Amino acid sequence: MLINASLKQLSLLLSDKKISSVELTSEFLARIQTLNSGLNAFITLDEERSLTQARDADEMIASGRSMPLTGIPLAQKDIFCAQGWLTTCGSKMLSNFVSPYDATVVERFNQAGLVNLGKTNMDEFAMGSSNETSYYGPVRNPWDLSAVPGGSSGGSACAVAARMAPAATGTDTGGSIRQPAALCGISGIKPTYGLVSRYGMIAFASSLDQGGPMAKSAEDLALLLNLMVGFDERDSTSLQRDAEDYGRDLEKPIERLRIGLPKEFFAEGMSADVASAIESALDEFRKLGATFVDISLPNSKLAIPVYYVLAPAEASSNLSRFDGVRYGYRAAQYTDLESMYKRTRAEGFGEEVKRRILIGSYVLSHGYYDAYYLQAQKLRRLIAKDFTDAFQQCDLIMGPTSPTVAFDIGEKCDDPIQMYLSDVYTSAASLAGLPGMSIPVGFGRKDRPVGLHIIGNYFKEAQMLNAAHRYQQVTDWHQRMPSDVLA
Ligand code: GLN
Repeated sequence: MLINASLKQLSLLLSDKKISSVELTSEFLARIQTLNSGLNAFITLDEERSLTQARDADEMIASGRSMPLTGIPLAQKDIFCAQGWLTTCGSKMLSNFVSPYDATVVERFNQAGLVNLGKTNMDEFAMGSSNETSYYGPVRNPWDLSAVPGGSSGGSACAVAARMAPAATGTDTGGSIRQPAALCGISGIKPTYGLVSRYGMIAFASSLDQGGPMAKSAEDLALLLNLMVGFDERDSTSLQRDAEDYGRDLEKPIERLRIGLPKEFFAEGMSADVASAIESALDEFRKLGATFVDISLPNSKLAIPVYYVLAPAEASSNLSRFDGVRYGYRAAQYTDLESMYKRTRAEGFGEEVKRRILIGSYVLSHGYYDAYYLQAQKLRRLIAKDFTDAFQQCDLIMGPTSPTVAFDIGEKCDDPIQMYLSDVYTSAASLAGLPGMSIPVGFGRKDRPVGLHIIGNYFKEAQMLNAAHRYQQVTDWHQRMPSDVLA
C-alpha cells in the first residue's frame, strides 16, 4: 500500500518512473483533505504550491538530476520558515506572517527536490507536551480521537501516524520530537545538538532547540537525517564536521551492543502498561544478542526543574522580538508606544507562553540570577557528566520515552506541573545535548502506543539507528496503522 510504504520503496517507485511525484503528492493531499478536518494536524495547506514543487521534482527525475528522496512529499512543522508559506509557530502572534525566506532545513529539502505537503500544527512556540497550547486548536491522536498526540510536534506526529505524510520535520527542546513520536506510535530522532541548522527555525530556547525527522521507521529517519544535517554558517552553534551516511550501519549485527538501563528511568512514575511494553522490547534486544548493564544517572531527577529555569530564561529573551513593530500581530487599539507593546503582547501570546516569559524574566532578574539561573547552569553540567560516566560502561541507553501512554485531551490543561512531567525521561538528554530517539514498541492502556527511548553518546546517531532498525526488522509495530479510527 502506497501510504504505508517506506521512503526507500517510494524512492524506487519514483526513480523507476512507476509513479510520478505529482501522483504521489496528490495521493497524500487527498488523504489530508479527507482526514485533516477530524485531526487538525495541518495549519496551512497550499495544494498549488505543493504540486508545483512535485512537477519540478518530476522534471529533475526525468532529466537524470535526481538526488536521494527527490519527489518525496513531507510535512513541515510550522516552526520552520518556508518562503511564501504562512509560518505561524502555532501562535496568534505570527498568524499573519508569510515568511520571506527558507529555513536551512527547508532549503536543503527543496534543493534535493522534496515536496512540502503543508505546515503542521504545534504547541505555541513549541511550548507544551500535548499540542493543546496551539492558537489553532488541539490536534487529535489518530489512535484514539479523545487523546492528545503529544507535543510540541503533535501535528507532525499525527500526520505521519495517520499516513497523511510519509515523513515530517519536528523540533525538540526538551522532548518535542520523541514524546509525540511515542504517543503516536511512530519513530523520531533528535540529533546531537548542533548537527541540524537552527537558521529559520523559530527560536524557543536556543541552547536546547534541535530539529530532526519524524517518520515510520529508523531506516526512513536515516535517509532524512542525511539531508538535514550539515554545517551552516548562518547558525553560530552549527557544528563543522565531515558528512556521514547515517544509514551506513543499519544492517550491522548488534551482538556486542551494551545497553545501559538507568535505574532512575525504571523507577516510580512509569505506569505498568508502559513498563510491560518496554520489558518486551528489551527482550527482543536480548534475543538479538545485546547485553544489559545497570547504570545510574543520579542527577537526572533534576532535569525537569533545571529545564524549567533555563528554557524559560532563554525563551523570555528570544520572544522579546515579538513587539508588534517589525512583523507579526499588532494590537488594533493603543495610545502610545508602550501601550502598543503591552497590548500586542497581551493579545498575541497565549497563557503558556506568557507563563514562560514571566518565569524566564524572574529567574534572570537581579537578585535571582545567581539563585536560579546560575545554579541551573551548574546542575546542567552535572546532568551531562552523568551521561559521560554512563557511556564508559555502555553504548546506548534505553528506557521509556514517556511515563504514560497518550492522555486525554483536557486532562492536564489545568496542571502545568503534570504537563511538564511528560518530559521526565527526555529532558536530561536535551540538557546534555545528546541525541535521543523514540521508536514504537507496542500498545498500553486503551490500546494507545508506547515508545522506547534510545539515548546515544554524542554523534552516535548511526549506532542508535542501527539498533532501532535491527529491532524493526524482527517486529512490525512501526508498520501498524490506526485503521479503526480512520476507517
Ligand atoms: N514539553 C516541553 C516544553 O513544554 C518541551 C517542548 C519542546 O521540546 N519543544 O517546554
